[in-house]
Amino acid sequence: MKLHEYQAKGLLKEYGIPVPEGSTASTPEEARAIAEKMGGPVMIKAQVLVGGRGKAGGVKLARNPQEAFEHARAILGMSIKGIVVSRVLVAGAVDIASEFYVSLTVDRVGKSVQCMASASGGMEIEEIAAKEPQKIVRFSVDPERGMDRAAHGAELARAFGKTADQAWDIVSGMYRLFTEKDCSLVEINPCALTREGRLVAADAKVIFDDNALFRHPELEAFRSAEEYGADEMDARSAGLSYVGMDGTIGCIVNGAGLAMATMDLIKYFGGSPANFLDVGGSSNPEKVLHALRIITKNPKVTAILINIFGGITRCDDIARGILMALEKLTLAVPLTIRLIGTNEKEGRAMLEGAGINAFTDLTEAVQAVVRGAPAGARA
Ligand code: GDP
Ligand code: MN
Repeated sequence: MKLHEYQAKGLLKEYGIPVPEGSTASTPEEARAIAEKMGGPVMIKAQVLVGGRGKAGGVKLARNPQEAFEHARAILGMSIKGIVVSRVLVAGAVDIASEFYVSLTVDRVGKSVQCMASASGGMEIEEIAAKEPQKIVRFSVDPERGMDRAAHGAELARAFGKTADQAWDIVSGMYRLFTEKDCSLVEINPCALTREGRLVAADAKVIFDDNALFRHPELEAFRSAEEYGADEMDARSAGLSYVGMDGTIGCIVNGAGLAMATMDLIKYFGGSPANFLDVGGSSNPEKVLHALRIITKNPKVTAILINIFGGITRCDDIARGILMALEKLTLAVPLTIRLIGTNEKEGRAMLEGAGINAFTDLTEAVQAVVRGAPAGARA
């Protein structure tokens, strides 16, 4: 999970790292008001989850509130790498004397945290690596032992020179953030040296390891539709595990393994899945309703396949969910159902009562849905 710059700076601040003051605005008027309140020059910065905003024209210096208004007007609504800017950060402008780069990442091979630092900040690390590789200082921190002032401080001094002590404080804070929140990246670029000789985080990137998010419920509030898509967010809050794809056949399956196998079979018979969706093992009829609601919102979907192999999941609960959904939603596309396992007889009887036949054989069901069969036929 990625953070916007303003969120990342908020976290850095909590970890004692100096960042410029600022707030976000979603209209030019708001940006002007913030600039007025802050006084002095400000940066207007597009808040989108991609890098290279500066080069794309999404980062501008405003010398006064009127310029803040104008830059915000230009940047809001602008598209950067395909993402439309809906919010800007209005941050106190740093009077920059020089720009450093510093980051922490996971070194999987070394089973350690890797720190990279360079006096050639401002550009992306790939660019520094291509242009001035000798200017990148790299060292590893053993997570069992943590940061070591003598050894790691000396490494940092090779990049930061006279400001090595401030750099030590900043990187120590970054390291605590990195390890406490299970990050995969913490990057400050530029780490700006002001004319008064102070180091400040003028930009910040934080990425959390999604596999560790279960340990950090406090980070859930950062989850955004910009990164995960509106449907995926919707599915998550309904307790479904959903991944959107490019195809046309909407799938509702119980169990991740069966969902994968179902997608494989759809492909095998010449179709293409519109999504991965696991309703899970529980037998909550509401979940089927939510699943159908989310799938039918996708305009690309031309057919839907429900594939249930009832174990803990009970077929009658699934049938109840399907009937409930058919009452509440208008399905504009054919629905094919395959239903076997626990309470199959009851589930099947309920569906038949509503004139719906379900397959027992998965291959036949998939062939039918790929052909565009109007409904489930008796196997
Ligand atoms: P990015 O392009 O998405 O990485 O956005 P940055 O926040 O790094 O901004 C790009 C560039 O704008 C930086 O490398 C700086 O040169 C400049 N910049 C950013 N913040 C400030 C600031 O507070 N003062 C000044 N003078 N320049 C800034
Ligand atoms: Mn940057």
